[in-house]
Amino acid sequence: MSEKPSLEKLPLGERPPVRMVGDAPEPVKELVSEHLASRLGEGHLDQLTEAQINALKSSEYEKRSYEKEAIAIANELTNQILEQSGVQPFDIPEQNVHIVPLELFNTFRGDSSSTSSSVIATTYSNRYLIISNGAEMRQKVTDGISTLFHEITHGKGYMAQELFESKNKKNEYGFATHRSGIRVDSTSKKSRGRDLSFTVFRGLNEGFVSLLEKNNFRMLLQKITAPDIQDEISWMEGEGAKELMQEISRKEDRPPDEISWLSRDGKAYRFFPYYDQRRVLDFIIKSAVEDNSISSYEEGMGIFAKAHFRGNIVDLAKLVEATFGKETFGWLGLMNDDNSARFILDRLQKKRRLLLAKRKKESDSKVEVGDEG
Ligand SMILES: [Zn+2]
Repeated sequence: MSEKPSLEKLPLGERPPVRMVGDAPEPVKELVSEHLASRLGEGHLDQLTEAQINALKSSEYEKRSYEKEAIAIANELTNQILEQSGVQPFDIPEQNVHIVPLELFNTFRGDSSSTSSSVIATTYSNRYLIISNGAEMRQKVTDGISTLFHEITHGKGYMAQELFESKNKKNEYGFATHRSGIRVDSTSKKSRGRDLSFTVFRGLNEGFVSLLEKNNFRMLLQKITAPDIQDEISWMEGEGAKELMQEISRKEDRPPDEISWLSRDGKAYRFFPYYDQRRVLDFIIKSAVEDNSISSYEEGMGIFAKAHFRGNIVDLAKLVEATFGKETFGWLGLMNDDNSARFILDRLQKKRRLLLAKRKKESDSKVEVGDEG
């Protein structure tokens, strides 16, 4: 690992500079940058409609003490990683997190019909708006805590905004997210008349955020002191839960430590999200360790962290291509949902087998062993 720099935490309501792309004049870029920073804290409400603000005022739940604590601890834990990645630490204020009833949650997500409880929270990247499904989050307490960590990790991701001149008015500018964490969105609004947009590295971004979430889960729980949920935490860490987790693991074909919440009767449970995407990351890091191109799993996570928090994707691309061959980093760009993640994992595993076979053949021919088969 490189030497750990000591970086001072930014005052509340500030964030590291946002990179601006596009050909807007400098003062416009500065204005947008300031505007985005002002969204950390109360300022983020300015972007909402009056109806949304009223809905929040009337039905948002007051945060419980353990939720406030979870937000603070998630900030603290992620700030350590920001610092290790060479990024100035900053906090996502608790005002940016809204815990709301399911109905309002769906309205915010633009999905008024859904009664699905599978999605528990959403972060709108450049809006610094974290909306979470209160009923679900509070019933599945430990998963809810973990989800707060997940969303805060998204909120702290590297950010680049694309600026574009309005189609109708000269000298009027709009902006859209170009990079959030590892994810890349391109809007191509420059081509007037047509909005071409595409997203790459969505699955890799979620995979990293969820892997970090899972790796920090136990630590997060241990640090929470709020008395009202200590029972729930000791249940999750006790022998009774462990046994049930083994059972579920066999039934669902997932490792037992994938469970982020479990009911006392073992009938209801939740898994950490983005399992298939995380398996891809895991395979990348373990293969690179096997090759000795990095010395440890932590070093691999550090390279992903630099891509996510600092925007440095080059080292990650180099690591992937050294481990799997040319152009394989581009494949990862296409990873999105679970099926695509399984497909990519399969391709990487095949590529890896071929590469190892080729290396073996080369080293065998060097020592001139004429063994066939
Ligand atoms: Zn996510």
